[in-house]
Amino acid sequence: MIISIASGKGGTGKTTVAVNLAALAAEIYGGEKRGVFYADCDVEEPDGHLFLKPDIEDSTKAHTLIPKVDPDKCTLCGKCAEACRFNALLVTRKNVIVFDELCHGCGTCKIVCGDDAVSEREREIGVIDEGKAGAGGSGRINYVAGVLNVGEHMSPPLIKIVRERIESAAKGDDIVFIDASPGTSCPVIEAVRDTDYVVLVTEPTPFGLNDLKLAVGMVETLGLPFGIVINRYQDDERGRELLEYMEDKKLTVLAEIPLRRSIAEIISRGGLLIDEDMEMKNLFRELLNRVILYRGDQYDEI
Ligand code: SF4
Ligand code: SF4
Repeated sequence: MIISIASGKGGTGKTTVAVNLAALAAEIYGGEKRGVFYADCDVEEPDGHLFLKPDIEDSTKAHTLIPKVDPDKCTLCGKCAEACRFNALLVTRKNVIVFDELCHGCGTCKIVCGDDAVSEREREIGVIDEGKAGAGGSGRINYVAGVLNVGEHMSPPLIKIVRERIESAAKGDDIVFIDASPGTSCPVIEAVRDTDYVVLVTEPTPFGLNDLKLAVGMVETLGLPFGIVINRYQDDERGRELLEYMEDKKLTVLAEIPLRRSIAEIISRGGLLIDEDMEMKNLFRELLNRVILYRGDQYDEI
């Protein structure tokens, strides 16, 4: 089962939810009954490692494929530039210019070039870190994180590689938690697409509500089942406004993590809530119950 954790905006506590769910699942299943995987797909700013403290066993460079045009075969017909949705090609009277940073590596130009003038070359975009993590060095969580190169903005290909790595390693009953990047643009869609359940994390602020609406629109368009975790919840005007929106839309509220200084302190020193706060551990157990055995419209207890 693949569970993605996303949010319409940064700073809502998405990673807090993702790492605590992964750590709790590892504690319950021991990594034996069911393997537990955590994939940090927030590749521009991966911070799951601050909480899970993995032992990195392998760090490999990640590449995307971009076109290389053979000037001896190219007839300057312009078909490739016409077909490129990302404006990454410019056909001049003398040559074809490839704007590496704009290329999504989709391969369309190679397909449309009837003159066989396009081949592919690798472009390094980041690093994939792989290792083991888990409370007390138990190594029960299989950890994979994409780290985008500084200055690089083409994150979807790196996210795709992270997902391919983790999905090829995970077997039928294993549980994969995908920590997506914030927002509702291409990187998030690459992270959450085809997942079995999406946990949307929000907070009771005007920006939080606005960006939650965008995130809800995104997952509804993708046709994915989802529920919502409200972080830093308190029973005030903002909190009630958020709940009213969810009630109006008949959305599922999975959990409310309260606004509390002790919670902020645990997070600020890189601790896991499930290790240091029994109330939070119970809350995450309930949350895990609701998402992990989601089947259609049914929830079962662990
Ligand atoms: S489609 Fe092929 S032949 Fe035509 S301009 Fe592009 S690379 Fe050159
Ligand atoms: S691989 Fe795709 S994005 Fe890149 S230049 Fe070719 S058509 Fe454009």
